[in-house]
Amino acid sequence: MIVVLRPDATKKEIDHIIERIKQLGLSVHISKGKERTILGAIGDESILEEHPIDMLPGIEKVMPILKPYKLVSREFQKEDSIINVDGIKIGGKQIQVIAGPCSVETREILINTAQRIKKAGAKFLRGGAFKPRTSPYAFQGLGEEGLLFLLEAKKKTGLPIVTELLDPRDTEVVYEYADIIQIGARNMQNFRLLTEVGKLDKPVLLKRGLSATIKEFLMSAEYIASQGNRKIILCERGIRTFETAVRNTLDLSAVPVLKEETHLPVFIDPSHAVGRWDMVAPLAKAAIAVGADGLMIEVHSDPENALCDGSQSLKPSKFDKLMKELKKVAIAVGRTM
Ligand code: PEP
Ligand code: MN
Repeated sequence: MIVVLRPDATKKEIDHIIERIKQLGLSVHISKGKERTILGAIGDESILEEHPIDMLPGIEKVMPILKPYKLVSREFQKEDSIINVDGIKIGGKQIQVIAGPCSVETREILINTAQRIKKAGAKFLRGGAFKPRTSPYAFQGLGEEGLLFLLEAKKKTGLPIVTELLDPRDTEVVYEYADIIQIGARNMQNFRLLTEVGKLDKPVLLKRGLSATIKEFLMSAEYIASQGNRKIILCERGIRTFETAVRNTLDLSAVPVLKEETHLPVFIDPSHAVGRWDMVAPLAKAAIAVGADGLMIEVHSDPENALCDGSQSLKPSKFDKLMKELKKVAIAVGRTM
């Protein structure tokens, strides 16, 4: 921790700051310049999270040296984490695509969509059975019945299931059916839920919160990892900005930043980011070009009549075309698909 003192800090104030840092079990390295003094607080600086010193008189700025996230950081693990789900490797050279409807609606739509995305090359089937809807009057999902349909679609296509866990009380039932448990944007900082999935032995796809910073995103991943579950996939899905032309603003720069900060695989969900089907393709291509390890794309066999997010869902034929284009982008950046 580096402590920058104010130019007008008095000797009495400086002595008190040094005494306080020592009291907290850290040693102090004093660097006296012409204009001002800088202190280096050496030792386990995490103590300063519980006992902050930045409000002490005479201090201008306190700058931590260590990252607040540890297990998920690149410092902790240099090599990329590769998560193996039914023999499909997430986080390696191959780009993986998760596709399917926003929510599980009917058996027929789900199975039809699953068969089409499988044919197009998707490796995972997505679909929400428990839906986080803004309105309490909107379709809330089929619950366990939806999970049963997902299982049937998996049996027919072989595609592993990605589905959202909305509430800690549904952990057992979602665990039973899901191959990857999704934690949605709205729950990114539901710390009880993160702790719960942290105790499980199944991979977790953690979506970035609507207004979460990258640091907060990684701290949420750290919550999961701290409980023992290191199989975490991060998913950027657009954040709230002043821009209203599209549903959210896709933060493409989050990909290289995350790749530098963490060893975890990074996915992009262009569908929830842009909110309209006709702009999913360019963002999906950009995501691969910028270094994402995979994509989550909403596909529905009948988007016009979808109960949720129809306007951003691709028809299977459009998805098929996109997958062919994405393959070329993947190869251009040294990946496979
Ligand atoms: C979803 O993927 O179904 C979803 C609700 O996305 P998000 O949590 O990113 O809004
Ligand atoms: Mn959706």
